[in-house]
Amino acid sequence: MDPITALLEKVLIDVRPHDDGQPASYIPELASADPDLLAFGVVGPRGRVITAGDDGAEFTIQSMSKPFVLALALQTLGRDAVFARVGAEPSGEPFNAISLEAQTGRPANPMVNAGAIATTALIDGADIDERTSRVVAAMSAFAGRSLWIDESVYSSESGTGDRNRALAHLLKSYGIIRGSVHDAVETYFRQCSVLVTVRDLAVMAATLAFGGRNPVTGERVVSERVARDVTSIMASCGMYDFSGEWMLRVGLPAKSGVSGGVMAVATSQFGVAAFSPRLDAHGNSVRASAIVEILSDRFGMHVLEPHESIAAPGVTVEESAAGPVVRLGGELGFAGAERVISLLREIAASTPSAAQITVDAAELARVHPAAVLVLRTEIEALAPRFRLLE
Ligand code: GLU
Repeated sequence: MDPITALLEKVLIDVRPHDDGQPASYIPELASADPDLLAFGVVGPRGRVITAGDDGAEFTIQSMSKPFVLALALQTLGRDAVFARVGAEPSGEPFNAISLEAQTGRPANPMVNAGAIATTALIDGADIDERTSRVVAAMSAFAGRSLWIDESVYSSESGTGDRNRALAHLLKSYGIIRGSVHDAVETYFRQCSVLVTVRDLAVMAATLAFGGRNPVTGERVVSERVARDVTSIMASCGMYDFSGEWMLRVGLPAKSGVSGGVMAVATSQFGVAAFSPRLDAHGNSVRASAIVEILSDRFGMHVLEPHESIAAPGVTVEESAAGPVVRLGGELGFAGAERVISLLREIAASTPSAAQITVDAAELARVHPAAVLVLRTEIEALAPRFRLLE
């Protein structure tokens, strides 16, 4: 067993004893889930998928569909059209609360049911089937394989969905839903009933983590900006009314669902998904949450943890007849630019004053405007000894 898989297996051993909580009971089909199932998966930048535990177990995506339908709406309609109908504020209330803005009726955010139904209603289509196939196609692109719906969960969901119907009618009364309430709600029930495994969910999370590009298939699914917007909403609203404390303890944008799944996004590092059906009082899986918390801790993934290497370019120095050539590769951010400048000063101090020092920034894969400005300004001040190639 390779060391990373061994490390992940150890996480399962550590969380298995947590057997508190109960599977969701308000939808009959979910109540019958095997409560002992336990699995998780991690997907890194090169699309390597590592899973542990009951990784073949399929479960319905439930609320974890919400970020992906939001992504589809943002990608097709743009930010303004979407956020005109749904807010971006954590509600601090349970997922099925009537969290609507007083004057406008706009739901608090797209991660609570009211906001998710409003978002689904934005997806165009002649009927439920057409809308559903758009939604499932988008989710499939995130997962890198064709996903399908568990029809018995859908029937159970639709058969017990009066509260969601009531929310949708309220949204219609405010003009947030413009078309058919029935189509919007049934499409929403169908999107919640899509079957996934931890592998699928981890790939879906990884697609958000790597800026909207699926690291397994290589397909660009949504733009970098859309992936960033969705991840931002997950960071503040993804874990029901535990979202603030989750950010404090785990520090990763995440989304949970009542089937017992949790998926989390470590931007530029990993997509993570875990599954175990027993839920706590907030509706979050006890063991799946524990897994993500342990991973965040052991792998140093909390977004607000200081990282030495953030946007620091790779630097190589070569000698040429005219003088040293400093080649920059990778990503140049603001703090990275400062480091490069102090390195250039050291090189200047140890180089004969007649030599010209060339800074080659042409091969940088990613550059932030403020960083280039700092580098350019500094090099111009040091000219003619320095020359910048961009
Ligand atoms: N289908 C569920 C509902 O709307 C989704 C709930 C969830 O996962 O939070 O009731």
